[in-house]
Amino acid sequence: MAAEKTRKIAFVGSECYPFVKTGGLGDVMYALPRALVSEGCEVRVFLPLYACIPKKYKEQMKYRGSFMMDLTLEGRTFFVGIMEMTLDGVTYDFIENREFFDWGNPYTGLWEDIPKYCYFSKAAPAVMNYLEWAPDVIHCHDWQTGLLPIYLRRKFQDTPVGKARSVLTIHNLRFQGICSIQHLKYWSGLPDDLFDYPILKQNEDEANMFKGGLAFADKITTVSETYAEEIQTPAYGETLDAHLRHHCPKLCGIVNGIDVEQWDPEKDKLLAEPYGTGDVLDKKKENKRALQEKLGLEQDGHKMVLGLISRLTDQKGLDLVDAIFPHLIDGNTQVIVLGTGDPRYENAFRYFESENKGSVCAYISYNEALAHQIYAGADALLVPSLFEPCGLTQLIAMRYGTVPIVRETGGLKDTVTPYDGSWSEGNGFTFTQYSAVKLLDAINNAKTVYFTDRWHWDEIVQRNMRKDVSWEASARKYLALYDEIIAWNDQKQEQPQEEKPEEK
Ligand code: ADP
Repeated sequence: MAAEKTRKIAFVGSECYPFVKTGGLGDVMYALPRALVSEGCEVRVFLPLYACIPKKYKEQMKYRGSFMMDLTLEGRTFFVGIMEMTLDGVTYDFIENREFFDWGNPYTGLWEDIPKYCYFSKAAPAVMNYLEWAPDVIHCHDWQTGLLPIYLRRKFQDTPVGKARSVLTIHNLRFQGICSIQHLKYWSGLPDDLFDYPILKQNEDEANMFKGGLAFADKITTVSETYAEEIQTPAYGETLDAHLRHHCPKLCGIVNGIDVEQWDPEKDKLLAEPYGTGDVLDKKKENKRALQEKLGLEQDGHKMVLGLISRLTDQKGLDLVDAIFPHLIDGNTQVIVLGTGDPRYENAFRYFESENKGSVCAYISYNEALAHQIYAGADALLVPSLFEPCGLTQLIAMRYGTVPIVRETGGLKDTVTPYDGSWSEGNGFTFTQYSAVKLLDAINNAKTVYFTDRWHWDEIVQRNMRKDVSWEASARKYLALYDEIIAWNDQKQEQPQEEKPEEK
């Protein structure tokens, strides 16, 4: 029985904390394998060996071998090196090719990223064969690994790795790996019949790597139940809503957790004062003061500190924040923004800082340590996203006793229960309609409770810290999903057909 033997699960993705992380994908690639190892799985994570991976990790890696692999329509051969290390029971195999991975941080631009991830999606199963490690399931993540389920069925079907089942997780549907058909045909080396509408074809001129992967994967998951519903609608489907409706029998949502050891306010060495549920109310004040001092804000424990930790892009609802910013600063409130991205938002927040010295800090950078300190020192965290597949910042905030103020979309809706004015319910303040006025209303509601009903506010803080935001429950859901598809092999069932005509 599949459920009784050790399941072998391969994770393949383009980033993974602590080696390289630009967003939530990096957190999930780190935390979910660890949670699966705790459940008794054997997990290996396959990653590109980017030049930007810190030297301290590169020094721990051991050379496991190398071979040449063909890619492109011409069958050009490319070097594939394997460097390996183990961390907390998870084995990491880094795929080395200096031509593709020696520059970028890790993404450079689609023109270069398409060849890079065609190579990676083919090299990963080739490495599994080379290592004579045949997984039961290959769990792929986002468009960068979209071609892997296709290669698995069309290039590796008669090799040991070809028996593996594939899962493709959508962490963010906005990014799909779209380029000219010619470019993808050349680099992928895949045959013409796959460049048809139900699979890789996006429109007359373009191909879409994610679309093809979604067609071929045995299961599609996304990172919350609400987002799984939303992406089947034109408003959130990013042009793939019909494709996803067609494939909805194999689509489900499993909400992300966070690694509760990585994010543990009681043991967090980056904090001025670590704390638990028992002393959060006192210690949070000390963390707030330390944060205010570090960022040059007025040191006053009575001010309400609003934090925002985010990629600065349209997705994150920053146009709403931009629109209401002047109304946030009222003499009792401070705002701290940590983020980098669209220059339009970077400059807007710099401007607000210059206009409100001592009350506003715009820290335009990526800074892991400061993120921890803001989660601990802020009173509330803003996450007013236009769309949010799951969102991790609201989960981390709750773990640190910080109250999220979120728009009810995707995973934000699934993880933050609105405060209803009672002492027993609610984790944060929410709004539904994508509107600056509604965001301002939600913030003002939070301020009212903070300044006039502190007893209830403190209840929310402590309730949030007790909320289970770990991976445990979700890891079990992934296990059930893996078992379902592993059983197909035992039952000699065929993969559901992917090439039926699809609704338009
Ligand atoms: P997304 O993946 O869309 O960027 P998530 O909420 O899923 O958003 O994950 C964001 C992750 O990246 C969180 O761990 C958050 O703390 C971290 N993060 C985002 N911006 C920064 C930043 N400027 N500095 C440090 N950490 C950041």
